[in-house]
This record gives sequence, structure tokens and C-alpha cells, in this order.
Amino acid sequence: MRLRNIKGADDAVQNSEYCIKNPTEWKGKWNEIFENQNPIRIEIGMGKGQFLMQLAAQNPTINYIGIERYTSVLYRALQKMESEPLSNLKFICVNAEILPDVFEKNEIDRIYLNFSDPWPKDRHAKRRLTSREFLKRYDTFLKQDGIIEFKTDNVGLFDFSLEEVPYGGFKLLASTYDLHHDVSLNEGNIMTEYEEKFSSLGNPICKMIISR
Ligand code: SAH
Repeated sequence: MRLRNIKGADDAVQNSEYCIKNPTEWKGKWNEIFENQNPIRIEIGMGKGQFLMQLAAQNPTINYIGIERYTSVLYRALQKMESEPLSNLKFICVNAEILPDVFEKNEIDRIYLNFSDPWPKDRHAKRRLTSREFLKRYDTFLKQDGIIEFKTDNVGLFDFSLEEVPYGGFKLLASTYDLHHDVSLNEGNIMTEYEEKFSSLGNPICKMIISR
């Protein structure tokens, strides 16, 4: 997701109490930010935050962190938080490549990846958030029994992601090429912004769940 540069977005992100500055300084100490010992789950590439806000509102005893690299996009999430604040949700504005410097071993309980950028050129495969390179990064901070959930409507990216699973040190727990017609996997599904958009155009949604 790329939005036009929005005037004031950088300042708003910099000054927001919901956005944690210098996130590498909190490595191993994220529970102090939330002031409790509840599990922490993250969405990488959260866009405007619709999915995570709904999840956080439904699960007050779980902490959530949304990661988004563009301030112009994160700004939209901050605006929503101003009107409906959630104490179990924070944001950080970084490129996901640096997450091993942000989270300590076993610090994160679950990772959500929703409608990640496809990077269609082969030479950009390493930039895909489900590539083996990224899976190995997640391995450094995801709890041993933690899971990763990935949704997309892009079948090419989904097939690539399925193939990467073993190379990243994970195994497939469940998958579908048509989430909205899969009764068990769709139970309790929260639609992301892109999911609403692409499924309304008739695109089936793919989902996989992986663990170690
Ligand atoms: N998850 C949302 C948005 C999907 S668009 C939804 O499903 O509606 C993908 C988002 O991921 C974009 O906002 C993009 O800026 C962000 N993103 C892509 N690569 C990223 C990276 N390496 N680090 C952080 N954010 C990233």
C-alpha cells in the first residue's frame, strides 16, 4: 500500500503515543510497554490497521503490535486510534527486515501477514515477506510453538510461499485456496482491508498457517 505523501504524517507518527519510537531499544522489554505479561502478536505490513484494530478489540488479554513502513499509511491507523483508543495495541514504523533487532527470542507469540506485497520479479523474491529469508528472521523471535498466518489473493505469491515453508524451517499446519468457502479455516475470520476489496471483485482468498 502506498499513499500520496500526506502533509503532517511524519510528525504525527513521531509524536503519537500509540507509535513506539526507537523500537530496537525495547528489545526483550515489550511487556513493559503494555504493563502486563500477556502474549504479544504482530501484523507485519498492517496497512491502515483495520484487521488489527478489530482483533485487539475482540481480545483484550492479548497484546498486538502493528508494523508498517510508510508513515502515510500508519497515519490512517493513528487517526482511528485517536477516536477509539485500545490499550492492547501499539504501532511501529520500520522495515520488517530489522525485526530481529526489535524482538528478543521467544518474545512474539504469533505473526500475521496479510496481503503482503507480491514483488513479482524473481530477482526481488528475497523481499517477499514469506520468503525463506524472512521466515528465518521470524524464527529468531517467534515462540517455539508460535504460528504464522498468511492471507493473500495472489495465487503466484501463495504458491511461492508454500514452497518456501520448509526452507525457512517451518511446516504447513493448514492451507486453502478459497478461505471464504472453507468452513473450518474461515471460522472467526476477520477481513482485512485488502481482503474486502479483492474478495468483492470475486477473487478467492488463499490462507496458510505454519509452525515449526
Ligand atoms: N495488511 C493490510 C495491508 C496490505 S498492503 C491489508 O491486508 O489490508 C501491504 C502493506 O505492507 C503495505 O502497507 C506496505 O507498506 C507494507 N509493507 C510491505 N513490505 C513491508 C516491509 N518490509 N516492512 C514493513 N511494512 C511493509
